Amino acid sequence: MIPVADWHAVVQALVRPLPARRLLLAEAEGCVLAESVRTRHALPPFDSSAMDGYAVRAVDVCDGDHTQPVVLRVIGCAPAGRPTDAVVGPGEAVRILTGGPLPAGADAVVPVEATDGGRVVVRVHGAAGPGRHVRRAGEDLALHDLVLAEGWVIGPGQAAAAAGAGYADLLVVPRPRIAIISTGDELVEAGHPLNPGQLPDSNLVGLAAQVRLAGGVTSVTARCGDDAPALRRLLHAAARSADLIVTTGGVSAGEENDVVKAALSGSSVRFATVAVQPGAPQAAGWVDGVPFLGLPGNPVAALVSFAVFIRPVVQTLRGLIVESGGSLVELAAPVQPHREKTRFVTARWAELGDRRVAVPDGRQGSHLVAGLADTDLLLEIAPGEEVVPAGKLVPALSLVGASDTPRKVRTTLAHRAATP
Ligand code: AMP
Ligand code: MG
Repeated sequence: MIPVADWHAVVQALVRPLPARRLLLAEAEGCVLAESVRTRHALPPFDSSAMDGYAVRAVDVCDGDHTQPVVLRVIGCAPAGRPTDAVVGPGEAVRILTGGPLPAGADAVVPVEATDGGRVVVRVHGAAGPGRHVRRAGEDLALHDLVLAEGWVIGPGQAAAAAGAGYADLLVVPRPRIAIISTGDELVEAGHPLNPGQLPDSNLVGLAAQVRLAGGVTSVTARCGDDAPALRRLLHAAARSADLIVTTGGVSAGEENDVVKAALSGSSVRFATVAVQPGAPQAAGWVDGVPFLGLPGNPVAALVSFAVFIRPVVQTLRGLIVESGGSLVELAAPVQPHREKTRFVTARWAELGDRRVAVPDGRQGSHLVAGLADTDLLLEIAPGEEVVPAGKLVPALSLVGASDTPRKVRTTLAHRAATP
């Protein structure tokens, strides 16, 4: 039996970050930035008004008050996107709207509320010092300032800032393309009627969702019977468009129907028994130069194996640093460890007073697919004899929500940048 940490090393040795590509901002979401991004113009690019009102010379209005309004001649209008040629001279004003470019000569904006709103002449009741209600060019960032650093993950905020800085696309590590192939003569597509002995295929959809959660995209998703030549054909086809190939089923300990074993016998793929429960039978290697990982077929085992072994592989492909171990969560009920294997126990979140605790699923069986409906996280229980008591903190992997937080994660690329 191979310890979990050693199997992590075996599968990690198959992958390195994918080469960077230039992607449109809309496609770069969730990708790791492979370049530093500097502004292509000042942010904001020009002086503009922060209010609807009048662009004025501050010296003209600094005496304005409610008893003695200052009267100015309105010589033009500057809505957003329409600069005016008018130059504001002494005793003059330009009507301006929020975002409107500040006209030459003006150095302040009087909000419309401090005026009578006149269109030909305007009476100004309030004072405005120089720069009042003006958004200054470059007050956010100057030309060529750094807006995004290499290694950051592109989320909504980073995409918006890159667009604001003048970019339509970015050099990023793309999302890995992952092929998923489920195997088994007994499987039928979810939702189809079942003949005797048949089962709906849970893994294809469950693992596709995990791929998205991990930041990858599915290339091929296919189901294959227990037919080794057919599986070999599917694997070769999948290798043409995938950065990683994942199968489920057909890897257990030497049964005659182990189709993945049969299809890949004599190849570089290694079949192993890992000290993990569920999910002990695992496979790892190459198919036509593409990293290949074979998972056991039971749906709970497949889900656990993906979260434990493949999610970190996807992180590496994405250029992220793999953080070892999950975050710590509080057990709501005792759990019996396995003597030699690391257990991953499905659990759900619950509120206990003002605390959030993890309630382990009492019925553990790797074929009990319905229990997955109530699974928020996997609790990692180290091998041992002693019951792990309620209240104890244990590492956990989340099965809901993104597995990383944009920008806060560390990346191999940032690491590389930091150590020239
Ligand atoms: P295997 O690893 O192929 O021996 O499969 C182990 C068990 O998991 C068998 O009971 C299979 O019927 C079941 N199984 C395999 N693949 C799937 C799947 N995609 N969806 C649901 N159950 C599966
Ligand atoms: Mg099978």
